[in-house]
Amino acid sequence: MDNEHTANAEKKIDNNANISVQESDFDKEGWKPKLESEIVDYFIRDMEQDIIKLGQSKGKFGGGKRSIWKQTQKKTKEGNKPKFSTMVVIGNRNGYVGLGRGKAKETVPAREKAIRDAKLNVISVKRGCGSWECGCREGHSIPFKVLGKCGSVKVELMPAPKGSGLVVEDECKRLLRLAGIKDIYSKTFGQIGTKVNLAQACFNALKELSKTKIREEDIKKLGII
Ligand SMILES: [Zn+2]
Repeated sequence: MDNEHTANAEKKIDNNANISVQESDFDKEGWKPKLESEIVDYFIRDMEQDIIKLGQSKGKFGGGKRSIWKQTQKKTKEGNKPKFSTMVVIGNRNGYVGLGRGKAKETVPAREKAIRDAKLNVISVKRGCGSWECGCREGHSIPFKVLGKCGSVKVELMPAPKGSGLVVEDECKRLLRLAGIKDIYSKTFGQIGTKVNLAQACFNALKELSKTKIREEDIKKLGII
C-alpha cells in the first residue's frame, strides 16, 4: 500500500515537471489570484524595494519627523502593547509594481509581511506619452489622465512632456519611480497627511490605467507599452 502511494506521488511530480511556464506568461489577469509570493519571485526578476514613510517618530522639539514605522499602542492591564505597521513598494522599474502593508508586534516581521503582501499585489502598469506638448510616442509617462481614490484622498495623475520629472508628492514618487514612470504631473485632494491613504490612492490610479479600454489605433498613437 505504501509503495503504491509513493509511486503515485512520483508520478505527480513528473507531471508537474512537464508543465513549462515562461516569463512572458505572467500577467495580472492570467495569474489572478496569486496566493504565493514565490510565483512573483519566479516571473519578475531584479525587483527593487522601497519603504513608504507613513509614521511619525516620537521625541522632543515637536517630534513628528516622518519614519517608516507607524507605531500604535493598545492599553492593557500589563501595560502598553505597541504594534508596528509599514508599507513597502516593490517594482522592476519597467512596468511592474506592487504595494503592500504589514503589521506585527515587532518591526522586522512587519516589514516581511509587507514585502509578501506587496508581491501578491503586483500589477502591470501601462505607460505611454499622452502629453500634447511632447508626442514622442515613447513610454516615459502615462497615456492618459487617471484618478485614484482611498478614503478622503484623491490623486489625479496626468501625462507630462519629457524632462518634467515626477511632479508629485514625495511618497508617491517612490511608487511611480519603481513602476518605471519618469515624467508626470499631478493634483491631490483631501487629507494627504494620511500617507497610508495617499500611497493607496496613487496605486489605485495606476490600476485605473489597465482597467480603461483602449482602441487599437490609440495604442500606436500614444505609444503604449
Ligand atoms: Zn513624450
